[in-house]
Amino acid sequence: MSFDEVRSVWWNGDLVPWTKANVHVSAHALHYGSGVFEGIRCYETPEGPAVFRLTEHIDRLFASASAHGIDMPFTASELGAAVCQTVAANGFQRCYVRPIAFFGSSTLALNPGTCPVEAAVLAWPWPAMLGERALDYGVRITVSPWRKFGAEMMPTTAKACGQYINSILAVRDAARRGYDEALLLDAGGGVAEGSGENLFVVHDGVVRTNDDRHSILMGITRDSVMTIARGLGLPVETRALTVEDLLIADEAFFTGTAAEVAPISEVDGVEIGNGRPGEITRRIQQAFFDATSGRSKQYRRWLHFVDACTFAGAYSSVPFI
Ligand code: PMP
Repeated sequence: MSFDEVRSVWWNGDLVPWTKANVHVSAHALHYGSGVFEGIRCYETPEGPAVFRLTEHIDRLFASASAHGIDMPFTASELGAAVCQTVAANGFQRCYVRPIAFFGSSTLALNPGTCPVEAAVLAWPWPAMLGERALDYGVRITVSPWRKFGAEMMPTTAKACGQYINSILAVRDAARRGYDEALLLDAGGGVAEGSGENLFVVHDGVVRTNDDRHSILMGITRDSVMTIARGLGLPVETRALTVEDLLIADEAFFTGTAAEVAPISEVDGVEIGNGRPGEITRRIQQAFFDATSGRSKQYRRWLHFVDACTFAGAYSSVPFI
């Protein structure tokens, strides 16, 4: 990951240099994680950089804000335009984009009361989160001793800053024990998801994943992969998953904006299938990268070309939300 190449950050409505995009130490969100964010990818295509599923990401940002009672200081169109402006201002062909809205500085009472809501968009080059090698050879994962929090504790389908302490505990424990990633179970002992990914298993040709009844973030990559799998004529089933489903699976993979489509080779020392990425995983992964790179006509609707939406005026004429 490299922040060195970032020149501009979108900060409360303006593009400012990296060194000016700062938060005061008294900001509410710094102390309590009281903010919401998105993780979006922009991909290189023959027609210039294109943001993948921008509409869905901005929609989810607003849904997260609403779940946490955060009044967004900008409209969805403005934030969508800000994503494109930030990519363009930095001259990136491909990057990861992080819009965030959070309570700033006014009080450190738990109730943020008078704290202003600040908004920013950061973009930087970030190759596949689990490593390029993971995309080809798969990741070794472990079932975490940390459980995923349940919907009765805080909204699981929202993407709020503070909730990621749960994921951080899990991923650091996994790394300490020599694994690439953690798999969190839900409060009932069923499978929830990875620290920052949804889980898919393939058994006898059926592609299975769980849903919001199992404390997961409803991933946009998950949705893309389900659509792609159906498009490939594969049966797709949504139901609770158990650790046993994973251990007996022919294939398994993680999905996420940062992780993309990452095959799972091993769970706690047990190989999945023959320990190599399976054929169905490969086909889905290939179709996913065809979609993100603009090679697929079928999924062109998922691409939002940066050059077409750089300026707010031009952008707002595009029916977007
Ligand atoms: N679960 C969690 C906890 C995540 O943080 C992410 C990444 N946003 C995902 C799943 C995958 O979601 P998406 O495909 O929308 O990136």
